[in-house]
Amino acid sequence: MRRRTTLAVAALPLLHWTAGHAGGVLSPEPKSPPGAPQSEIKPGNGVTAQRRLSQWLPALAGTPGDTAVFVLEGKVPGPTVFVAGGTHNMEMAGVIAATLLVERAVVQRGRLIVVPRANASGASWRDPKDLGPGEYTFDTASGKRTFAVGTRLTRSTHQGAPDPSSYIHPSSQEKLPGYEMRNLNRAHPGKADGNLTQKTAYALTRLIAVEGAHVAFDLHEAGPRSRLAWLIIANPKNVEQAANAALDLGDIGIDMRIEASSPTFRGLSHLEWGEATKAAAYLIETPNPYQASSYDGDPLEELRKEGDYPLWMRVGVQLEAVMAVLNVHNSSAAPTARFEAVGVPSLADLKARGIGAFLN
Ligand SMILES: [Zn+2]
Repeated sequence: MRRRTTLAVAALPLLHWTAGHAGGVLSPEPKSPPGAPQSEIKPGNGVTAQRRLSQWLPALAGTPGDTAVFVLEGKVPGPTVFVAGGTHNMEMAGVIAATLLVERAVVQRGRLIVVPRANASGASWRDPKDLGPGEYTFDTASGKRTFAVGTRLTRSTHQGAPDPSSYIHPSSQEKLPGYEMRNLNRAHPGKADGNLTQKTAYALTRLIAVEGAHVAFDLHEAGPRSRLAWLIIANPKNVEQAANAALDLGDIGIDMRIEASSPTFRGLSHLEWGEATKAAAYLIETPNPYQASSYDGDPLEELRKEGDYPLWMRVGVQLEAVMAVLNVHNSSAAPTARFEAVGVPSLADLKARGIGAFLN
C-alpha cells in the first residue's frame, strides 16, 4: 500500500547508473594523529547524553577505535533508533547526515542514538588514492566548521596485526583481499577479542543489541556509476518496509532502489545487525562523485563534477531516506510506539539554505 509522507521536498531528476563497482583500496599513509576528530561535533539541544563506544566494549577504551556516541532521548518513551555514519570516512554524506541529526534533531517520542564516525581510525587518515577534497568547510552561525575526509579502512598501524594475504570472514567461507580485514563493513558482527576493526564492529553490534534498537541505519556512499548508488539495502526481514519507503521517496522525487542483503556475503551491517539483534537493519547509499570512479575505469572528469552530486543533495537524500523508513515503521506501530522527532532538515531545507545553516 502506498502512503503519502508529510515531508515537503522539491522534486529532483535523479538518474540510476548500472555499471559495476570493484571498490579497491590501497596502501596507507599515516600522517595525522590517531583517533577520530571529536571536536568537529557541536551537540544540539536534543542531545541528552554523550557516551563513548567503549561503554559497550571496555577493551576499546583508549584505542583509536573508540568514538563518540550521542543519545537523544525524548520525554515520552518509545522505540530506539540507531544511526551510524563514517563506517567509511570518505563517504561524507553519511558523516554529515549523522552530524546534522546530532546537532538539529529533537526527539519527542523514543530515543535516537547516533555514531557519526563509526570507524574512528578510518576518520584519522586519508588514503592518497582517494579523490576529492581532504576536508569540507561550512560557514555557520558560529563561524567556519571543518569536517575531515577520512577513508574506507582502519589505519594499518592501528589494526594490531598486519593484513593477511586474504581475509576469510569468521562466519563464512568467503575469501576477500587481505586489506578488507580493516573494512568495518566486512567485520560485523565483530569479535570482542579480535583486531581493532573487529572490536569496533563488536561494540556497535552490542550497542544495538543492549540498547534494544528497533531500527538501525548505516549511511554510505558509492561512485555515481556504481550499482550501489541510490540504493537502500535491507535485511531480508525488513525488505518490505524498505520497498514501501522507496515508494514514498519516489512520491517526493527521490528515486531509490532497494535490495535485500545477500545471505552469503557476510560481515555487512545490514545483514549482521539484522541477524544478531532484533533491529530492522538498513544501509543507505548515495552517489559520491569522488568515490570509486577510478576503480571502475570511469572517465573521472565527467564524474568529478561536484555540481552534479552536491553534498547538500546527498546529505538531504540520506536524511529523507532515514525519515521515510521510520515513517513506514511508524505506520504499522501503535500510536504510543511511534518514533517522533522534529528539527531534521529536509532535502528542500538543505537546497534552500545549505548545510552550514543547519550546523551549530
Ligand atoms: Zn561505504
